[in-house]
Amino acid sequence: MKAVRVTGLVPGGAEAESSAKRLELCEVVRPERRTPSDVLVRVLCVGLDGTDREIVTERYGVPPAGETALTIGHESLGVVIEAAADSFLKPGDAVCALVRRPCSDPDCTACRNGQQDFCESGRYVERGIKGANGYLSEYYVEDAKYLVKVPLPALPYGVLAEPQSIVEKVWDEVQRIQQRLVWQPKTAVVLGSGPLGLLAAFTCRCLGLETIVWSKSSDDSAGAALVRDCGAVYKQAGVDSGSDAAPLSGYLRQAGKRADLIFECTGYSPLAFEAMTALGPNGVLALLGVTPGSRSIEIPADQVNQGLVLENKCVLGSVNASRKDFETGLFRLQQMEAKFPGLLGRLVTDRLRLEAVPGLDFSRIGIKAAVDLVPPEQWAELISGTGSDAVYSFSV
Ligand SMILES: [Zn+2]
Repeated sequence: MKAVRVTGLVPGGAEAESSAKRLELCEVVRPERRTPSDVLVRVLCVGLDGTDREIVTERYGVPPAGETALTIGHESLGVVIEAAADSFLKPGDAVCALVRRPCSDPDCTACRNGQQDFCESGRYVERGIKGANGYLSEYYVEDAKYLVKVPLPALPYGVLAEPQSIVEKVWDEVQRIQQRLVWQPKTAVVLGSGPLGLLAAFTCRCLGLETIVWSKSSDDSAGAALVRDCGAVYKQAGVDSGSDAAPLSGYLRQAGKRADLIFECTGYSPLAFEAMTALGPNGVLALLGVTPGSRSIEIPADQVNQGLVLENKCVLGSVNASRKDFETGLFRLQQMEAKFPGLLGRLVTDRLRLEAVPGLDFSRIGIKAAVDLVPPEQWAELISGTGSDAVYSFSV
């Protein structure tokens, strides 16, 4: 079968020189089920994101033990081909797959309790990222417990379940934290208008929050249009702020807005620190952006600390997601499609076939790219769903 792999990696996970790395379309052995709980899945579509770009272009990405190549792709949509008769999955079911697998450290309480998204040892494995092959291949085999059934109505945008699960995990955390008081959030601020920022903005709108998206992308970008079309406000960063050292705080003050909730989705660390000051009283700042660099900046530490203490503010980091976050994410995506028809479709700006991936220029992707291993118009004939609108809602 065909797979898109990053080759030229160093076994054992040492950082490879990026010059030795290549993204290639390879012929690999089709995997087979080995245990009763294994499920064979045919891949329909794989979404690409910033992590894939970093694996391809930067010092990132760890191959499986003893190997020098890694199949990329961690945002998947597929159809079950083979599963055990007593499995909750049957051939013809549409599924997406979780990314992280637990570490084997006996002292990692999180992994020992099935909460590998909170792994303490750092020795977890992530398919398509760290120590295990991803899903950008014609087939994969995975244990049923890491597969989530995709309801038929969610099929066209089911490939977005993984990025949406990131938003759902943090929203769930925010709600738990805010049980510390009577909290009636009105305004959410999303930093960044990439795929994650846009999904966070759509989510905030589904939650009925007044939403402001602050991003450096131009006011006439496709992302800005999506922001406005979900009823949020788009504010281009870097214009009319002059020499303001804290442009986000200045903008919010001038607009008379109090940020009850901030989702930081850029990974630009100076903005993460500025957001601590911009955050309103009793608010939560959720940091979701990964920062691969090593930047140092000067920060007004007294002012930041004073604000966090005197206004009961909370800052939390969040990564990866659990099974229930995928399930809630699939529910939310259906909610978004009902509320803002067509927006999720417009989020995927670039669709390509598997053969075109090695030649892909990641810097030219509009908002989000998706790789169709099976043309979308053929998906329905591979799915044997009854059309039952299975919905999951844990914390919506
Ligand atoms: Zn662990």
